[in-house]
Amino acid sequence: MDKKELEQYEVETILAQAGNRNNGDSHGSISTPIYLASNYRHKDLEDIRNFDEHKQYSYSRLETPTRKVLSETLATLEHGTQAFALSSGMAAIQLPFSLFKSGDHIVTLDDLYGGTFRYFDQLDEQYGIRFSKWNGKKIEELHDLLQPETRAVWIETPSNPTMKEVDIAAVADMVHAVDPKILVMVDNTFYTPIYQLPLTQGANIVVHSATKYLSGHNDLLGGVVVARGEKLSEKLAFNYKTTGATLASFDSWLLLRSLKTLPLRMREHTANAQKVVAYLKQEAKVEKVMYPGKGGMISFYVRDEKIIDKMFKSLKVISFAESLGGVESLLTIPYIQTHRDMEESERLRLGITPTLLRLSVGLENAIDLVSDLKQALA
Ligand SMILES: *Cc1c(COP(=O)(O)O)cnc(C)c1O
Repeated sequence: MDKKELEQYEVETILAQAGNRNNGDSHGSISTPIYLASNYRHKDLEDIRNFDEHKQYSYSRLETPTRKVLSETLATLEHGTQAFALSSGMAAIQLPFSLFKSGDHIVTLDDLYGGTFRYFDQLDEQYGIRFSKWNGKKIEELHDLLQPETRAVWIETPSNPTMKEVDIAAVADMVHAVDPKILVMVDNTFYTPIYQLPLTQGANIVVHSATKYLSGHNDLLGGVVVARGEKLSEKLAFNYKTTGATLASFDSWLLLRSLKTLPLRMREHTANAQKVVAYLKQEAKVEKVMYPGKGGMISFYVRDEKIIDKMFKSLKVISFAESLGGVESLLTIPYIQTHRDMEESERLRLGITPTLLRLSVGLENAIDLVSDLKQALA
């Protein structure tokens, strides 16, 4: 089914049916085929002259039949105009930033994925794009940070790793009242479109690390950008094909297959996380638990830094490993892993201390996850 047809259905149906009855396959395959061709034959010169109207394939950086099905599914899922599948979450973040130039000003949330910080620092130091940080609390304070050169506001909600939630609609309403041209961009990796649809709340661009929940099996690196509006989509499409960090057909197929179970997985991640939170809240060795109420991500402080090494070594089900959003539960220590490149003073100010742990609750049985944590903390 194409994007228009899919849009009439509920999210579970959209995803389960993604790629079925697609035009690219003449054999009636239920699962979308993986097209590994890097290039495509043309019929004649007329074929090339009408390329834009016909939307045929020519070269796989520009489009592949497999990636096309994935992109249309992603655009439908996020209620956007056009979606772009990229080779990593960082490549996805880079795509909208390719719209800006030296002297432009961006406001970002102060608590973000560590790699995003590293990239923004580089844009500042090497390319003269200026950044201001907002703590995500008062909209009036965000208002005061806007300047005539402000081109975008970048937020991540809930934030990583301290789980701050930002009201996307309130941000978009205020920012667009000041200047409708300022782009409101949201990293939707943690909640996914199952729990949050930023484009329907006034955001212009949504970004994902598809490495996390969208793929969900700890077996793929990918990124997604979804834009609202034809003009913005066209600009992004131009930069996408020009710079070329596009997702290969094989990975596009893997991501499309994983998306089919996204609603089920998210429900179960939430159910499991709620049970783990209930345990952590009454565990004497745990000082504080941060959980926004839905999704699979939990951050918590242990009382004593000295128990952490032994705890990591004792875990039998949960793995001490970076990343998140997969079927396997993972525990990280952001202070020395994901947020290591951030200034120490900044880490501590944000609450990213040596006793903060971040748990990605997987799809194992919650009983086993709770007993694993219990025995590791004992
Ligand atoms: C992992 C992550 C990224 C970066 O994505 P990669 O796929 O690792 O390049 C960006 N934002 C968030 C919130 C992430 O968790």
